[in-house]
Amino acid sequence: MVRGKVYLVGAGPGDPKLLTLRAAELLGKADIVIYDRLVGKSILKLAPKTARKIYVGKRSGKHEVPQNEINKRLVSASREGRTVVRLKGGDPFLFGRGGEEAETLLENHVDFEVVPGVTSAIATPEYAGIPLTHRDYASAVAIVTGHRAGDSGKPVNWGKLASAVDTIVILMGMESLEAIVKKLIEGGLDPNRPVAIVEQGTTKAQRSFIAKLDTIVGEAEKNNVKAPAVIVVGEVAELGRKLAWFKKTAR
Ligand code: SAH
Repeated sequence: MVRGKVYLVGAGPGDPKLLTLRAAELLGKADIVIYDRLVGKSILKLAPKTARKIYVGKRSGKHEVPQNEINKRLVSASREGRTVVRLKGGDPFLFGRGGEEAETLLENHVDFEVVPGVTSAIATPEYAGIPLTHRDYASAVAIVTGHRAGDSGKPVNWGKLASAVDTIVILMGMESLEAIVKKLIEGGLDPNRPVAIVEQGTTKAQRSFIAKLDTIVGEAEKNNVKAPAVIVVGEVAELGRKLAWFKKTAR
């Protein structure tokens, strides 16, 4: 039996030019590409026309393809193609379930390689002029999921987080924004602490909003901010007001 190799590849945060050279090289010789919702169309074009492209993200109004189904597809693809690219938004090992997929491949004796990607957690604030660390304001950063605890397995301890780090970066947080803000304030954060939200970061549609913990929910509602968006809580968020170099939409 001919066995292929599966590459767990990060596609970067949106701007196709943030793709790594290694990712472009592998896409160029891919036999099968298995990709998620947050992967840009122009990136998929780097794969040969003849490559099979399989979408496993959320379909509009529907649920995501279950992870065990994706895992099965990865293993079967490795038996059908020599180069299988499993393409994920941002970085494959940061809230990308790349770890779970690597475990499945290992269990099934499929050879794999991981190609890091530029993560939205860092690049998206960056495109809005927000450095996650700064010598004057922040020397510790946490990147957390805002997704409801039930689904994400290990719940985030918001109270402890509030006192432990200077900058909190929240992915998948828009649906629970109000609850998160409440927990952070209960956990001891000043309601006046700056918060930024960057929607569709690094793309032409990028919008960013800067407010305070106790005003951000209203700001997000007023502007109809939707996923995908990265939320940054901390003093550094204010820097976006002057450093927003990519698009001057911060307010
Ligand atoms: N592995 C990915 C994260 C996957 S979780 C990475 O490293 O970037 C999906 C979440 O990432 C979204 O809910 C959103 O919070 C964030 N995200 C991904 N792309 C984004 C973008 N272009 N702009 C803003 N947020 C983004």
